[in-house]
Amino acid sequence: MSLEENYHAIKQSLPESIQLVAVSKTHPVEKIQTIYQLGQRAFGENKVQEMIAKQPLLPADIEWHLIGHLQTNKVKYIAPFVALIQSVDSKKLLQEINKQAEKNQRIIPILLQVKIAQEDTKTGMDIAEAKALVEEISQGLYLHIALKGLMGIATFTDDENTIQQEFLRLKNFYDELAPLYQLETLSMGMSHDFPLAIACGANSVRIGSAIFGERDYSA
Ligand SMILES: *Cc1c(COP(=O)(O)O)cnc(C)c1O
Repeated sequence: MSLEENYHAIKQSLPESIQLVAVSKTHPVEKIQTIYQLGQRAFGENKVQEMIAKQPLLPADIEWHLIGHLQTNKVKYIAPFVALIQSVDSKKLLQEINKQAEKNQRIIPILLQVKIAQEDTKTGMDIAEAKALVEEISQGLYLHIALKGLMGIATFTDDENTIQQEFLRLKNFYDELAPLYQLETLSMGMSHDFPLAIACGANSVRIGSAIFGERDYSA
């Protein structure tokens, strides 16, 4: 299938209430442009270097989502334009985002990344840590940050039960916090597990290979 066909197929399978973030990492700006012309505005990148290389070459109304681990010393490069940082996984990072947002005289929307997978390789805070940070944010100390919600990545497995349990754990935590802190975004689900994520309550999905095809890391 062509890029256009892939995109339309994904769009058609998503209920209208679900936000689609097209994960364009490793793919060239030409492909992003193609999807943009079909109406897509939110794009996800996991590396700062790649995001700042692409951003000036593409339309200014693209909403850039940072979805990968972010080092504090790189926040300054994306602070002027990033639309949502989905992968906030420490207080130190939160402080730096707040500082850089202030320098740019803006408020940066963020999600806290919660570790739900069993694998050690997946980053994120545990639930207790996230809860403490949400409470701290609600004290009003971070004037240049807008906490919008939570993000999680499930274990990479064919076992749907495991994935479902992980998604539901995050959904329960989200439901506990959302009314207290006016959260609106629960970002769960990738190409291989997004229907399950939606069934478990996600309202934003991050889809890469199902739109753009397999990534070629050797290129
Ligand atoms: C790469 C990536 C995705 C998209 O993965 P696909 O399997 O290609 O859909 C989603 N979320 C994060 C955090 C990623 O790094």
